[in-house]
Amino acid sequence: MSGRFPPLREELQGIEPYGAPQLTLEQAPVQLNVNENPYGPSPEAAGDIARAVGEAAVTLNRYPDREFVELREALAAYLNTSGGSGITPAMVWAANGSNEVMLQLLQAFGGPGRVALSFAPTYSMYPEYARDTMTEWVAGHRAEDFSLDLDAARELVLERKPSVVLLPSPNNPTGTALPPEAVSMLCEAAGSYEPGGLVVVDEAYGEFRRAGTPSALELLPEHRNLVVTRTMSKAFALAGARLGYLAADPAIGDAIRVVRLPYHLSAVTQATALAALRYAPELLGRVDDLRAERDATVVWLREQGFEVADSDANFVLFGRFGDRHAVWQGLVDRGVLIRETGPEGWLRVSVGTPDEMAAFRKALMDVTIDANEEQA
Ligand SMILES: *Cc1c(COP(=O)(O)O)cnc(C)c1O
Repeated sequence: MSGRFPPLREELQGIEPYGAPQLTLEQAPVQLNVNENPYGPSPEAAGDIARAVGEAAVTLNRYPDREFVELREALAAYLNTSGGSGITPAMVWAANGSNEVMLQLLQAFGGPGRVALSFAPTYSMYPEYARDTMTEWVAGHRAEDFSLDLDAARELVLERKPSVVLLPSPNNPTGTALPPEAVSMLCEAAGSYEPGGLVVVDEAYGEFRRAGTPSALELLPEHRNLVVTRTMSKAFALAGARLGYLAADPAIGDAIRVVRLPYHLSAVTQATALAALRYAPELLGRVDDLRAERDATVVWLREQGFEVADSDANFVLFGRFGDRHAVWQGLVDRGVLIRETGPEGWLRVSVGTPDEMAAFRKALMDVTIDANEEQA
C-alpha cells in the first residue's frame, strides 16, 4: 500500500479530536471546566436509577424500544413544566446527548451544497457537525457585548440561505440569551426562501436562564421551522447518562428517523433517563442555588476589575488576559480546572458549589497577584 495510512478524508487529516482537557480529581480537585452540575443525585434517586437499570438488565438480550415511546412521553411532560405548553410526544425526539441530536439534524437537513450557519463566538462543536456531514459552514459575528445584531443576522441568513441555523440560547461560551424577537425574526427569514431553513435554538442551558428570559419553546406554535434542543447533561445533573432531545414539528422527527442508526438509544439509557425524570424536582433542585452563585460570581469578578459577560447560563466568561494560558495553568497548578475557550484573552469558569467557587476566587487572586508582581 502506498501513501498515508490510514486513508483518512483529506479535510480530517491532522485535526486534533475535540475535547476539554480531562484531569483526574487528584490532579485538579476543583473541576469547573465543562459546565456540569456539581450536585449529584441523592442516594434515593441513584437507588431508583439503579433499580430501573437492573430491570432493564434482564431484557438486554432484546433490542430496546426503537421509538422510546415512554421516554418521549416523559420528556414532553417535563417540557410542558419548563417553558413549553402543548408539547406532545410526537413533537419530541431524543438521542445520546444533544450533540447527537444536532448531528442528526445536520445529517438530515445539511449535506453537500447546503449551508449551516451560526454567529461566533459560539459552541465549537457546530462547525464539526458541518464538516462531518460535508455541509458548508458559515459564521457571522456577534456584537462586542456578544449579543446578536438582528439586522445583520437577518441579512446574512437572507444572503446565504442556510438549511440549518444554529442558535444557542444561552450561548456557550458567552452565556448570552437570545430575546424571543430575535428567534422569531430569524425563523421568518429562514422561512422566506426555497426550500427554507430550520432554526435550531440550542437550550442546553435553558433551565439556568434568568427570571424574565423566556424559552424558545413558547414560540413553537408560531414557527414550523423552529427546533428547540435541550439536554439532561447540564441543569439535570445527568451528563454521564448521555441524553439530549428536541421539540419541534413532528415532521422534523420523521426526517431524523431516516438517518438515525437503528436502536440508537440503549435500553440502559432509556431506563436511566426515565428514572431520572421521575426525580426531576430533586435533580433540578439546585438550579436556583447555582443561578445565585453565578450572579454572585459575576459581581465578584467585576469588583476585581475584570471584564465579565452577562450570563444566563451556569458559567461565566471573564477576562481579559494578555496571556490567558498562563492564568489557566496557574489555576490548574492550584488545583482549579477551568476552560481556556472563547475569544482570545477570555476564560470560562463553570459555576460549582460555594466551596468550589471560594477555591476558584482564592486561586485567581493568587495567580493574578503573582502575575502583577512579575510585571512590576
Ligand atoms: C453542553 C452543551 C450541549 C450538550 O451536550 P450533550 O451532548 O447533551 O451533553 C449542547 N450545546 C451546548 C452549547 C453545550 O454547551
